[in-house]
Formats: sequence, C-alpha cells, structure tokens
Amino acid sequence: MRLSHHYVIPHISTGDMLRAAAKSRTPLGLEARRYLDAGDLIPDEIVLRMVAARLEQDDTRTRGFVLDGFPRTVAQADGFDELLKPAELDLALNLVAPTELVLERLASRRVCEDCGAIYSTAVPPKLNWTCDVCGGEVLQREDDTEEAIKHRLELYDLATVPIIARYRSVGKLIEVSGIGKPEEVFDSLVAVVDAYQRGGRFFP
Ligand code: AMP
Repeated sequence: MRLSHHYVIPHISTGDMLRAAAKSRTPLGLEARRYLDAGDLIPDEIVLRMVAARLEQDDTRTRGFVLDGFPRTVAQADGFDELLKPAELDLALNLVAPTELVLERLASRRVCEDCGAIYSTAVPPKLNWTCDVCGGEVLQREDDTEEAIKHRLELYDLATVPIIARYRSVGKLIEVSGIGKPEEVFDSLVAVVDAYQRGGRFFP
C-alpha cells in the first residue's frame, strides 16, 4: 500500500479484491468466502481471471503497478508470465521475517474495514477502534484467528515458497528484511526499488 502511494501506481492486492467481492456478495465473492475464512487459497483459475480483468484497466498501463499477495503458487506465476507478455515482471520483493514475528503480527493485527488501514493491539487507533484515517470500524480479520493463521503459514511453505527460487533463478528476486518498524521496512523497500530504477546494483 505505502509503496503504491510513494510511486503513485495502483496497488493490486488480491486479498483486498477478494474481501471486497465477499463483502458485496458478488458471485466471485460468494465462492471465495469459504476459502477466505478458512485461510485456504482460492483456486488458481479464479485468481488468475480476477487479476487478468484488473490488468485490463487503463490505470495499470502507464506507470506500472505493485502486486500484493500474488502470485502465491507456481501455477499463478506461470499464468501471470503469460498475462504480461510481451512485457516482463520487473522485481519480486520478498519480505523476510522469522515465523514467530509473523505469527505475533498477524494475531495482533486489526484492519479498518472501509479503507484497509492497518493497526495492531499494541498501536490501536486513537479513539475506540475507529479508523484515524477514514472513521471506519477497525476489526480483526476473520482469517486472523490462530487456526487460520497456522493454516495460511503452512500453505505459504507448501505453495508459495517454491516461487522464491523461481524468481531468484531469473535474477528478479530481492530479499528485504521485514524485521523492524514499518517505516524502517518501507525505507529498505524504497532503497532497493530506487536502485533498480537507476539501473544500479540493487542486490544487498
Ligand atoms: P491476504 O490479504 O494477501 O493475506 O490474503 C487473504 C486471503 O485471500 C488468503 O488467505 C487467501 O484465502 C486469499 N488470497 C489472496 N491472494 C490469493 C492468491 N494469490 N491466491 C489464492 N488465494 C489468495
């Protein structure tokens, strides 16, 4: 989200798109709901169709875009390569953090249901779980329960980790430490993306 604001490009989060579809009860959303709540992955064909439709929109065609939470499987990465042709992905950014830290962050995460602003039990909004940005209600995500978090992390190891090696082997992977305050992680991300844009050395 912050990267997209910084570079003034669309933020394409498949999780946000799926949650919005579920909330407005579209056919896609109704189908996605049971996967979302259980922390399961939505089938690849559905996600690829959704991303293909999003990439048809004009705002993705000028200055690029930042994808968030996609691709999550090798089949999605293959499908995405096809969708982009003849263009290619610039960079895959992998935020690296120890599992205990990820668990702690997910379990304490609270999200504004209107604008998606993220808080935590340690850093709540100023007033009564009302979003500081838009006044929306700040809630715990249905899939941030202990059971669903555990399942999502298992699926990450199984389905998503193989993509890391794939992007590394084609020289597109950058690993950035996800430890530290949000501003510190953001500054590290901007540093590597800026270095990439300057055409300099960007591998730490
Ligand atoms: P996120 O907001 O990225 O944490 O995603 C929340 C949930 O949305 C995941 O646990 C999946 O159920 C679903 N989801 C998001 N992106 C994908 C994707 N690329 N492939 C399959 N399921 C996804």
